[in-house]
Amino acid sequence: MVRNLKFATFLYQPEPAEGVDINFYRIKPESGTVGKPNPKMYTNIAVFGDNAMAQKHPEWISVSKDGPSFRRLTAPKVNGIKPGNKKYNLRWDVLCMTNPEVREYNLTLIEDCARQTPGISISSQHFADHGFCVCPRCVELWRQSGLNWYDWRAQTVTEFLKEVKDCIGGKPLYVNMLPDPVLGRERFGYDFDALAEYADVFVIPMFSKAYPSPWYWEMLARAFKSKLKKPVFTNLYVRGPNDDPKQVPTTEQLLTVAVRIARTGVDGIIFLAETAQRIRDFQKAAVQSTNVLAELDGYGGDEVIDLVSRWKSLF
Ligand SMILES: [Zn+2]
Repeated sequence: MVRNLKFATFLYQPEPAEGVDINFYRIKPESGTVGKPNPKMYTNIAVFGDNAMAQKHPEWISVSKDGPSFRRLTAPKVNGIKPGNKKYNLRWDVLCMTNPEVREYNLTLIEDCARQTPGISISSQHFADHGFCVCPRCVELWRQSGLNWYDWRAQTVTEFLKEVKDCIGGKPLYVNMLPDPVLGRERFGYDFDALAEYADVFVIPMFSKAYPSPWYWEMLARAFKSKLKKPVFTNLYVRGPNDDPKQVPTTEQLLTVAVRIARTGVDGIIFLAETAQRIRDFQKAAVQSTNVLAELDGYGGDEVIDLVSRWKSLF
């Protein structure tokens, strides 16, 4: 049987999991730490979201009229208070994307990883959110462009993606985009059609510590699949670094949301976990979830059920 749907992992350690088509290694997540490439794994690089670099060079942070893009949710407390910008949902510090040093640093890393690994995935290759970035350099570049503000931002994001594409030697390029199918252009500078010229696959992170309402995720997957002119993968949250196991999605929720997303016609489903062992734990729990799998039979997401069936051979 020809399978249309691909399955992948999104891991924080350079050890691949079994039983999937692709393993992505987060060589540089938004924490800003940089690992070593694994030639058996595709490489994910968070570009402008970089806590370590922001700490080293706070002057490189992107700015809005409502303050700089320092994270809040994940920031360590200072005197009992989490610092950071309360006006936005910033999960990491976001550097200005027109900063030449930041661009050069990331493009060099991307090029190096592309030489050593089978494919590249990039995240946070866009503006922090609406209102960013109004640093003097961005305002001057915008003024010189003669474009309106939103067109200039979209052009800046697209041109960065073109630079990435030009330095990866024809390796497949997976482009992560934050999950706003309606206002992505105004908020992050996404011009979906222009980006599709350089992206081989779009990846929509759908991270949540619980999936009690699969209806919403299914709707988002359907929306992106209808709008994007390249294959679409979604990324589901199994268990991230330092997570309390009681505060992560249940296996039942993950299987249900995966089946509901699969039936929208997306091209791939990725599972985020800290390590290959966490994926293995999930795979084992999935294989044992016979009642849930029986319920999900007939929903139209058979490829997920077939995947779990193949996972039986791992144990
Ligand atoms: Zn700027």
